[in-house]
Amino acid sequence: MSDCLFCRIASGEIPSKKVYADDRIYAFHDIAPKAPTHVLVVPRRHIAKLADAGAEDREIVGEVVARAAAIARDLGLEHYRLVVNNGEGAGQTVFHLHFHLLGGRTMTWPPG
Ligand code: 5GP
Ligand code: ZN
Repeated sequence: MSDCLFCRIASGEIPSKKVYADDRIYAFHDIAPKAPTHVLVVPRRHIAKLADAGAEDREIVGEVVARAAAIARDLGLEHYRLVVNNGEGAGQTVFHLHFHLLGGRTMTWPPG
């Protein structure tokens, strides 16, 4: 998807502050952090939103979640929040599946 922002970031076409990369996953710092640590963890495969993930995406979605937890551990985060906004009404603005890893401050509940 050449017109997708996160496909272009994951491929290196658009620069970002890399946190983790392998052949299936890319993680990078959010450009407008909502917490002291705000990392976006994305599958390299283009999936527009979580609701579009099919049976064939089950493994990569699980891998991204497990990777987010590993990144949190590596960053020394004991308390953190992992968030997916699915659809505009939930706050999704970039339509390439991504998990927000937020930490470094106290979180409130429920989210807004
Ligand atoms: P969403 O609102 O779709 O759940 O999250 C999109 C996130 O992508 C936002 O937190 C926003 O700050 C971040 N973002 C948007 N454009 C860029 C960009 O060009 N680079 C980086 N690193 N983050 C971006
Ligand atoms: Zn994409």
